[in-house]
Order: sequence, then structure tokens, then C-alpha cells
Amino acid sequence: MKHVVVIGAGIVGLSTAHHLLKEGAKVTLIDRDPKGDKASFGNAGGIAVTEVVPASVPGLMLKVPGWLLDPLGPLALRPTYAAKLIPWFLRFSKAGSASEVKRIAAALAALNGRVYEDLIPLLAENGLLGELHQRGALTVYQSEAAFKQDAGQWDLKRSHGIEVSVLSGSETREMEPALSQSINVGVFTPQWSHVNDPKVLVDQLRESLVSRGLTIVIGDVTRVQASDGHPSVTVTLANGHLVLADKAVVAAGAWSGTLVKSIGDNVLLESERGYNTTFTDPGVKLSREVVFAERHFVATPLSCGLRIGGAAEFGGLNAAANFKRSQALAKLASIYLPDLKAEGGTRWAGHRPATPDSLPVIGPSAHNANVVYAFGHGHLGLTQGATTGRLVSDIVFDKPRLIDLAPYAITRFN
Ligand SMILES: Cc1cc2nc3c(=O)[nH]c(=O)nc-3n(C[C@H](O)[C@H](O)[C@H](O)COP(=O)(O)OP(=O)(O)OC[C@H]3O[C@@H](n4cnc5c(N)ncnc54)[C@H](O)[C@@H]3O)c2cc1C
Repeated sequence: MKHVVVIGAGIVGLSTAHHLLKEGAKVTLIDRDPKGDKASFGNAGGIAVTEVVPASVPGLMLKVPGWLLDPLGPLALRPTYAAKLIPWFLRFSKAGSASEVKRIAAALAALNGRVYEDLIPLLAENGLLGELHQRGALTVYQSEAAFKQDAGQWDLKRSHGIEVSVLSGSETREMEPALSQSINVGVFTPQWSHVNDPKVLVDQLRESLVSRGLTIVIGDVTRVQASDGHPSVTVTLANGHLVLADKAVVAAGAWSGTLVKSIGDNVLLESERGYNTTFTDPGVKLSREVVFAERHFVATPLSCGLRIGGAAEFGGLNAAANFKRSQALAKLASIYLPDLKAEGGTRWAGHRPATPDSLPVIGPSAHNANVVYAFGHGHLGLTQGATTGRLVSDIVFDKPRLIDLAPYAITRFN
């Protein structure tokens, strides 16, 4: 029986463990805090399969200075971290050329196009199908001009089979009566869905996998190395313990970079921190996730309350959170949801694992074919977790690849 070590108990690591167990592997999942907070707990809960346009697009760089000047705008950069970010940012800027956007969108569409095929069985086989709500999403615009500016992106989505219905302001309010009169355009994307609560999903998935034979080890992984002979991979923990396996999967989210280096590969991976507030008694009701296009944030009706969040803050993994961002987003939401009771709520911040080209890293190490990468999902880790797990399991068991994995290879950073 193949023994596979998976590093990271977020949605990506757990989904990978699910597929590996299904194939009959012995799976050991290592996490320094398996039940603790992580990006997979507090995210917006969106299964955002329609999001195939990368973050870097032509013209975006012109907007960046204005966003950075706004202390609570959608993009923030901690000044002490700016120098460290230069290589990532240069690559991000390159990813925004028209030809790169086309290439990246095709690669995102290939992954997202598989999502329900992998996610629905994963949920069903772990008794979690009731966690998914397939109700689509609404992207709303206050100004017609802003909608027209995004027309190219909507066309690109359509070209990849994304269903898009453009609605007037009143049609949009018919779908979501809590939205303000200031909304002039809505775009309904029926293929989007959302989960009840991402934390509940991750907790229940972990418990279900344990009942199916998953072993969880609490430990801080410091190194992954090839070993001589058999088993072929040695995973070193901070307490000095070694775990030996036939294969190792690095699914450590935004923390994966140091492990990648220990294996000898290169990657450009940054924490893109996001913020939100969840209101248990919001005073308004939404039926589906709503994306506020001009201000780059979302509201999702979760079972734990209405979650309002977004923001992209680059300051590394160790900077203290600035919860003024959570507050600012909640305040902004009142413009769009006039009856929102925006006081109180539970604030949260989490590290998105962001690559400069908006594509995850999925595939074997260039230095050790027994190590497989599964990280860097940025804004789409919840969406792409099940599919990533399936693809990684196929690599581990040397099965035919379901999609071309070249765009996600670690070698793009060498
Ligand atoms: C505000 C916000 C909103 C979001 N909304 C959405 C959304 O609506 N839809 C969507 O698809 N995605 C969304 N995302 C993105 C999504 O949450 C992430 O892409 C996803 O959770 C990443 O999952 P992961 O398993 O890779 O990492 P994580 O969930 O961060 O898990 C990584 C795990 O690895 C462990 N770990 C790290 N290093 C080590 C080590 N050295 N040794 C041992 N353990 C280690 C950590 O303890 C952690 O448990 C959002 C993110 C944020 C921040």
C-alpha cells in the first residue's frame, strides 16, 4: 500500500487526502494546528467557478496607485514589506498582458470546468452534500460606465462557457430585494454556488476522513527531502521527528514557500490577506452571494450569518492584522444594503496563498518526483480544492491526466 504524507489540513490538503484514501493509499496528514484557523475557515464560501479572469489584467496597473493611496481601499501594501514584494509584483505585472490573460483564463477555465464533477462526489461521499447551495451569484454595479469597462472580462468569461445574464437595476432588486436603489446593472451567473459555512465544511470533512482511516499528526514541518532507498521521502518536523513516506504532497497554503525551497524548487508565493465581518443578525436577507463590482468585495449568506469581506493586503505572513479593513468593508456594504445593521459582528482575516499569475501550483517537484505540489490557489482555493485533490491523486497513482497540467507546473518559476 502506498503511504502518502499530505502537509496542510486546509481545504486543499483535506480534499487531496479524500481522493488518496479513495484510491486505497495510507494517508498521514500533518498540520501544526489541524483544527485551527486558516484561510479555508473564514473565507467567503463561494464556489466561484465563473471566475476565470486573472487578477492582473491590462490597465489594472493604472488603478493601483489610487487604490494604494486610499488607506482602506481594496489593495494595501505594508511599506516595510514593499522591497520583498518586487519580484512577485514584476511577475504580476507581466501576467497582465493581453496574451497572458488569454492563456491564464484558459487554464483557470480548465480547472473550474471540472469543479462540480469533483466537488459533488466529494461532498456526497462524506455526507456533506447539504452544505452546497447552487443558487448562482449576482455581480452588481452602481454605474453603467463601470459595467461597460468590465465588458471585455464578461466576454472572456462567456467565451469559456460561463453563463451570464445582464439585468437592469429593477430586475436585480427583484432577485435580491435588500439591494439599494443605487444599483443600475446586475449580472447573474447561475453556475456559481456557495457553501453553508466554510469552517463547518472543513471541520466535518476532516472528521469524516478520520473515520475513513486518515491519520492526523500534529507537527510543524520544516523540511521535505528525498531519502535514499525506500520509502523515498523524508518529512522533518520542528520537534526533530521524521515521517517517512512513498510520496509527499505540499498543501500548506500561503506557508508552502519555505517547504518548496527545502526541496530545491523556486516559487513566487505571497500572502494576500483578506478581511471580513460576519453578522449573525444583519437585518437584511440575501439568497445568494453578491459581488460589489466597483468596490471589489462580496456578501455571502452563510448559515453562521451574513459575511461581508474582500480586500487584498500584501504584508507578509507575520504582520499583525489591521481589522479596520473589516470595519471599512462592513461600512461600505451599508451603501449597497441600506437596511444592514453594520454594528458588531465577528471580524476575521486570513492569508490567501497568491501566485503572481493567479494560477495554483499543481504537479510534481522539478527536483523530486515523489513530492507533489498543491498550493497557491489565491482567491479560489475553496472552489478548486476538490479538483486539485483529484488531479494530485492521479499524479500520485500515475493515472492519465484529466487536463493538461503544464500551466500549473512549478517549473514556471525556475
Ligand atoms: C477573505 C477571503 C475570502 C475568500 N473567499 C473565497 C471564496 O469565496 N471562494 C474560494 O474558492 N476561495 C476563497 N478564498 C481563498 C481560499 O480561502 C484559499 O485559497 C484556500 O482556503 C487555501 O486553502 P489551503 O488548504 O491551500 O490553505 P489553508 O487553508 O491556509 O491551510 C493551510 C494549512 O497548512 C498548515 N501549514 C502551513 N505550513 C505548515 C507547516 N510548515 N507544517 C505544518 N502545517 C503547516 C496550516 O496550519 C494550515 O492549516 C478566500 C480567502 C480569503 C482570505
